[in-house]
Amino acid sequence: MATVLSDIEIARAAKKKPIRDVAARLGIAEDDLVPYGRDKAKISAEFIRSLDGRPDGKLILVTAINPTPAGEGKTTTTVGLGDGLNRIGKRSAICIREASLGPCFGVKGGAAGGGYAQVIPMEDMNLHFTGDFHAITSAHNLLAALVDNHIYWGNRQAIDTRRVTWRRVLDMNDRALRQIVSSLGGVPNGYPRETGFDITVASEVMAILCLARDLEDLEARLGRIVVASRVDRSPVTAADIGAAGAMAVLLKDALQPNLVQTLENNPAFVHGGPFANIAHGCNSVLATKTALKLADYVVTEAGFGADLGAEKFFDIKCRIAGLKPAASVIVATVRALKMNGGVPKDELGREDVDAVKRGAANLGRHIENVKSFGVPVVVAINHFGTDTDAEIEAVKRYTAGLGVEAVLCRHWAEGSAGITELAEKVAAMADHGADNFAPLYPDDMPLWEKIETVVKRIYRGAEATAERSVHALLADFEARGHGHLPVCMAKTQYSFSTDPSLLGAPSGHSVHVREVRLSAGAGFVVAICGEIMTMPGLPRSPAAERIFLNEAGQIEGLF
Ligand code: ADP
Ligand code: MG
Repeated sequence: MATVLSDIEIARAAKKKPIRDVAARLGIAEDDLVPYGRDKAKISAEFIRSLDGRPDGKLILVTAINPTPAGEGKTTTTVGLGDGLNRIGKRSAICIREASLGPCFGVKGGAAGGGYAQVIPMEDMNLHFTGDFHAITSAHNLLAALVDNHIYWGNRQAIDTRRVTWRRVLDMNDRALRQIVSSLGGVPNGYPRETGFDITVASEVMAILCLARDLEDLEARLGRIVVASRVDRSPVTAADIGAAGAMAVLLKDALQPNLVQTLENNPAFVHGGPFANIAHGCNSVLATKTALKLADYVVTEAGFGADLGAEKFFDIKCRIAGLKPAASVIVATVRALKMNGGVPKDELGREDVDAVKRGAANLGRHIENVKSFGVPVVVAINHFGTDTDAEIEAVKRYTAGLGVEAVLCRHWAEGSAGITELAEKVAAMADHGADNFAPLYPDDMPLWEKIETVVKRIYRGAEATAERSVHALLADFEARGHGHLPVCMAKTQYSFSTDPSLLGAPSGHSVHVREVRLSAGAGFVVAICGEIMTMPGLPRSPAAERIFLNEAGQIEGLF
């Protein structure tokens, strides 16, 4: 058998084109690019403004069944499908998220796709890239410093120092900083208080950057961030302490979308990367909108499984940005379906058609859910070497019973040549699909009813429950004029329920909302169901131990 090259070896061997050539294919002139080296560029704000009024291409969402440790490959499929569409002559671009440094050095690896469906330069994309995350970290921490400084110099806003909710961020998995006491050391250092760090992708500033229409909208959203409350419990915002302008200055360049290329030299927008639990988990609105003006088909990805990722993509991103997805691809793997059918990870190599059939219930639930938004669905079976013909046939037969096609895709092993059938189907679906998209609930539905609607219609739970204090807080948000916002559900990505071990298609469960938080700047209300980690830790043997520079000065160990 031929040796299988690692992702980084494949990426390094790629024949990159100068980024101006990739941009030219989208009709972007060299003057409209802000190059970051030879193979990365930002797109100028003036050029993006000049696109106003142009018609939009078709937006295609790639989502998936519930993730399992067996791997699904949403990003890999997004990249592969973009290449596949270009291969069959459709002018296409992809839009994905930037990678967070923390997970790169931990257990998850990078975010550039895999095999022969990757975005390059993968090393840059998985590390500092164009500095966007550093800018977001700085803007976030500037606000934190200004809050403490405001209190230090007399606290004109009468902030209750026990109720400062704005924490600090760092783009690293560092559990030691989750809970800290700041301002120790006496009078010159301010007022000691308990606080902590989150990872940068969990910052509301990240979510804001990804939902802002333009610089003006960015600054307005930054100003609405709630940082603390007063003794009378009224909210203190970033605008109240005069932080929004300086934050916008730090974010000015980061707001511009980044353009890179796939292994097959097709355009890839890689911009923004909010968490998919306490935020909405999609790349930036600005990148998606720009891509839609420049390409006929735009393929984008939402984080986690369709219960969280697609729901938030539709109910938060599409709602806020006025986007109308034309088609959706649900990625499934035989391995993950077998896990959903009860097979342990170390036995996935053995054929088990019955387990595939049992686990297919999870896929079926996601198909129904995505269709309920009025978006046509096709299933991509992301092929792994261990899949057998009988197992693949079982998936196809199952989805056919639901009136949906499942297409076998070999983009990981073969690049665009392995995914032309899916590309043809998706293009046809997007061209002919009825224009039926609608979010799950209207803006004017009360916040608690929105939560209940997601729980019942998407998670198929019997009820949502919460303490009185949660209901009181929601009533307070509504009284302060935030009742029209969508809800951002934060729950485990592994199950439709709040129990990560409940695989398949559970129903009738109860979903307890432990806490609600207002992200007034981003423009959603977060409903936290279960324990949600906003500062991850590193595993016992982190990937960082195997990442190094080789004798040629090249990076080894990124994946
Ligand atoms: P997601 O976006 O769903 O988190 P990714 O596309 O990032 O998943 O893929 C996760 C990992 O799985 C990557 O390391 C990728 O190389 C690997 N992978 C994806 N598809 C395949 C496949 N068909 N065969 C083998 N490995 C794959
Ligand atoms: Mg991904």
